[in-house]
Amino acid sequence: MKKHIKEQAFDKASFKALVIKHLVTTYAQDTKTATDKSWYLAVGKALAEISTGNLLATEKRVIDANARSVNYFSLEFLIGRLTGNNLISLGLYDQISESVAELGLNLTDLLEQERDPALGNGGLGRLAACFMDSLAAQEFPSVGYGLHYQYGLFKQSFLNGHQIEFPDKWCEEEGYPWEVQRPELNQVVGLYGDVSSYTDENGQQYDRWNPAVTLQGIAWDLPIIGYNNQSVFPLRLWECRAPEPFNLAKFNDGDYIGAQQAQIAAGNVTKVLYPNDNHHQGKVLRLTQQYFHCACSIADIVGRHLKKGHKINALAEFETIQLNDTHPTIAIPELMRVLLDDFKLCWDDAWAIVSKTFAYTNHTLLPEALESWSEALIGELLPRHLEIIFEINHRLMADVEAKWPGNNDIKRKLSIIAEGQQRMIRMANLCVASSYAVNGVAALHSELVKRDLFPEFDALFPQRLQNVTNGITPRRWLKYCNPQLSDLISEKIGNEWPANLEQLEAIAQFASDDKFQQRYLEVKKTNKQRFADWVADNLDIELDINAIFDVQIKRLHEYKRQHLNLLHILSLYHRLLNDPSFDMHPRVFVFAAKAAPGYALAKDIIYAINKVADKVNNDPRLKDKLKVVFVPDYRVSLAEIIIPAADVSEQISTAGKEASGTGNMKLALNGALTIGTMDGANVEIREEVGDDNIFIFGLSVDEVEALKAEGYNSHTYYEQNGLLKASIDLLDGDEFDATDCAAFANIRHNLLEAGDPYLVLADFADYVDAHNRIDTEYRDQKLWVHKTILNTALVGKFSSDRSIRDYVNNIWHLSALPK
Ligand SMILES: *Cc1c(COP(=O)(O)O)cnc(C)c1O
Repeated sequence: MKKHIKEQAFDKASFKALVIKHLVTTYAQDTKTATDKSWYLAVGKALAEISTGNLLATEKRVIDANARSVNYFSLEFLIGRLTGNNLISLGLYDQISESVAELGLNLTDLLEQERDPALGNGGLGRLAACFMDSLAAQEFPSVGYGLHYQYGLFKQSFLNGHQIEFPDKWCEEEGYPWEVQRPELNQVVGLYGDVSSYTDENGQQYDRWNPAVTLQGIAWDLPIIGYNNQSVFPLRLWECRAPEPFNLAKFNDGDYIGAQQAQIAAGNVTKVLYPNDNHHQGKVLRLTQQYFHCACSIADIVGRHLKKGHKINALAEFETIQLNDTHPTIAIPELMRVLLDDFKLCWDDAWAIVSKTFAYTNHTLLPEALESWSEALIGELLPRHLEIIFEINHRLMADVEAKWPGNNDIKRKLSIIAEGQQRMIRMANLCVASSYAVNGVAALHSELVKRDLFPEFDALFPQRLQNVTNGITPRRWLKYCNPQLSDLISEKIGNEWPANLEQLEAIAQFASDDKFQQRYLEVKKTNKQRFADWVADNLDIELDINAIFDVQIKRLHEYKRQHLNLLHILSLYHRLLNDPSFDMHPRVFVFAAKAAPGYALAKDIIYAINKVADKVNNDPRLKDKLKVVFVPDYRVSLAEIIIPAADVSEQISTAGKEASGTGNMKLALNGALTIGTMDGANVEIREEVGDDNIFIFGLSVDEVEALKAEGYNSHTYYEQNGLLKASIDLLDGDEFDATDCAAFANIRHNLLEAGDPYLVLADFADYVDAHNRIDTEYRDQKLWVHKTILNTALVGKFSSDRSIRDYVNNIWHLSALPK
């Protein structure tokens, strides 16, 4: 079967010719005067040409193999820059580097020209991107389905310490070189309107949805290039173009204005990504995006299935759909609608397919993030889907009645419809009731899903609730972002580890080896210098690379507790100024975080950190012991510079609140030691690296629960801990030249009067202790580097290749493409 694979023949001369062809004919530039930007576009386009051929060839191999595929549905894919990573996957990095050098160019500079396609918010979107990479690396037949937002997550900058947001038009005027349109895959999607019944020629009665509005879905494919294989799978992103004029005849006069408004709104469906992370926003446009995404994707899957010559009844044999959180849940009633109304299956036959097609990943227990939509809104936008949801619920309630006769409490808990002033559709309940598998994203989180969120569903559907611990792709998060450490590792254990991360364990034997330690330290220093140079160039702050680089990079959220980190910094500031006996190793605290534009307290925390940074960075009394750097506009390409430079990884969420985290994995892999709570995947990182090689602190999930049950009072901690009191009081004074004092007062108010909902004060003392241990241990460089090497060596479990194999073996049950 080897015949399918052509060796990736690479001929420098023809590649250079291809680049010049694109430069001149695609981008209309002159080779003498073209900018780096145009050269990057031309190189990207030339490479994309190679990968598009492989994309089509892989599609054919999937058909020839009669293979079962997974369809990964996600409203977000935070893919990061593609060019550098794709060069690594193609195995062409060095050759292309030489080729562009011969054109008088520097590849690193060209790669810097690419904008991050920021089509996601944070961890959830980045997970989808890592999963696509791991599916392709292991050649599991797969399609990623997402939206082609015109504006990705906003660009962040700071003005006098405040976050300000700018639109991020990631797709240049010239277009993004890696994407290709697939016009034959375009779709038409309906919205609004009504449902009517009719009797067909055989006397059978059916329902029909008569949408009042139709939208056009334009298919864009981004190539996901398999590492070291010739397979390329599509990430298919739907763009909503101007809707087709609606059919007046179908529509009654009274709703004319409403339909017009809908028409206008429709043109904007894929304009922007919603900038919320772990927060539900019940806006019509958001639901429209979700439905548009699902309708296009379901139609694409069904169309592909039929085109292969399969019967519709065999859909679940050949296609499975993984829902990344509840955002694409409307795909469930959409597939039911297609099967019932278009294919005219009876309910039981349709349900037999649907209930074997979907699997759902839960990402959060935070109540404010659990999606629910008003029944009235769904009824207006998607009247047929609402009927179908009612019928699914009716049957679910019958199952509940059979298991717990007469128990209305359980019915109320499990019902897809929440009663109340306005009835709401709970998307997570719909997912659990309709999916053949449901998974949490780390062992602890999955236990809490069973114990706290869905215990009755676990009893009703035994085995349905499972765990798949998240992972990260070692190609981007080690080989690409940390080339020097990668080379050092390859020198010792060979170069198979990027596709087999467990092999890293073999470097544990060098953890005490003087020479290896020395070289590992040299690499870390180089990476710290690279980041320090970036900070000097971009933020005009001088950093000493002998300081401890202590980083917290993630979305800004109360549960992630950047304000706990801030209080610790304030405590150091206080001690440096007031306690002559206090000594500390120099520390650089690095933050990077965007706050959702509507999240006031998160923005106050950003402002406070920026103001504290201004002060401590310029206070000569601190003798450069303390620096605080808030890097604006956190994104994948920044993570790639910060992570290899980190000594300490802050993973300090309130126990029970962070489902998994993946930043924790990236940092440990690159040799940062974690200071963290027993939350999310920190628990499993500790299991892998051992208690001596991680700094665990704070309350456990059970302790958090017990403390809340007995009545948590943050004032007690404030009154009883002098250092804590001094640190919080710093937020009150005029120490930090804050023109917007309300921000400081709001944080203080949240921690004291508002009851400190995330137990910052309860964990403060233990957190400070853990930091004191870090200070002591870092001074012993031999001890520190030993722990650091063991972190790199022992986190192989967190490769997303392993996560994907868990999905394949326990949930999807599909096979890799034959070679
Ligand atoms: C990995 C990553 C995240 C997730 O970070 P957590 O610490 O797990 O919340 C968010 N944003 C970007 C750009 C990332 O690369």
